[in-house]
Amino acid sequence: MDYNILRLYAVLALILYVIIIVILERMYPYKEQKLLRKWFWDDFIFYTIFQGIVVGFIIAELIMFIDNHAQLSRLQLVSDWPLGAQLLFFLVTHDLFIYGFHWLMHHNRFLWRFHEAHHSVRDVDWVAGSRSHPFEILINQTVEFAPIVILGAAPEVALLKGLIDGAWGVWIHANINVYTGWFQYVINGPEMHRWHHASGYGRINLATKLAIWDWIFGTAYRPKDKKIEQYGLCYSGYPGGYFRQFVAFFRKEVPIDRLLRKTDVVN
Ligand SMILES: [Zn+2]
Ligand SMILES: [Zn+2]
Repeated sequence: MDYNILRLYAVLALILYVIIIVILERMYPYKEQKLLRKWFWDDFIFYTIFQGIVVGFIIAELIMFIDNHAQLSRLQLVSDWPLGAQLLFFLVTHDLFIYGFHWLMHHNRFLWRFHEAHHSVRDVDWVAGSRSHPFEILINQTVEFAPIVILGAAPEVALLKGLIDGAWGVWIHANINVYTGWFQYVINGPEMHRWHHASGYGRINLATKLAIWDWIFGTAYRPKDKKIEQYGLCYSGYPGGYFRQFVAFFRKEVPIDRLLRKTDVVN
């Protein structure tokens, strides 16, 4: 199939999926939240659409620049693999990378600047996951998509991986009161990721797609009879708007120490 038509289908599928998630949020909410809550338009217009296009373009240029110099895509290292195997390989390896990078951002004072914006959301919902500082996206998605190009994967792999990323980001932040049972030991969902956004709980549930990393590395937190009271940073003074958050990256002092360590969390 023509790549542009495939891309159009992917966008349409994602829109349909988002509509379903928003309906489910209205029907089975975990927390009472408004659809058009505070900072909704910043998340939707600037973080989702504007940043998706602008940062996406910069990353694509950067990867082409890297590949033009490294010339590795000519080696076609994974080109012979079946499409599903290529996709699975890049999904799992990038997911492990992002777990480690996420852990570092929560433990290193300088790297926390990259991730602070993501934890500034006060209402965790379908669009909240898009709130990530452009510098965090730049690092994350360059590391994500550069190997796909450089190792010579099929173009569909990048498209499908991007589609899965988008859908998964919407899913783990969805304000749906869902219980996934044993599934949550393997596949990550809103049940655990929303605790990652609870004030003061940042250093647990660091996984994105596969929950296994949290269970393997001892960062999993899944309380049974407890509800989240408040989301967001546990210190004040960080702005909420897109452009002010961009600038806040460069401020002198960033308070990271007030975020609880994993061992401080009471089960
Ligand atoms: Zn999140
Ligand atoms: Zn985090």
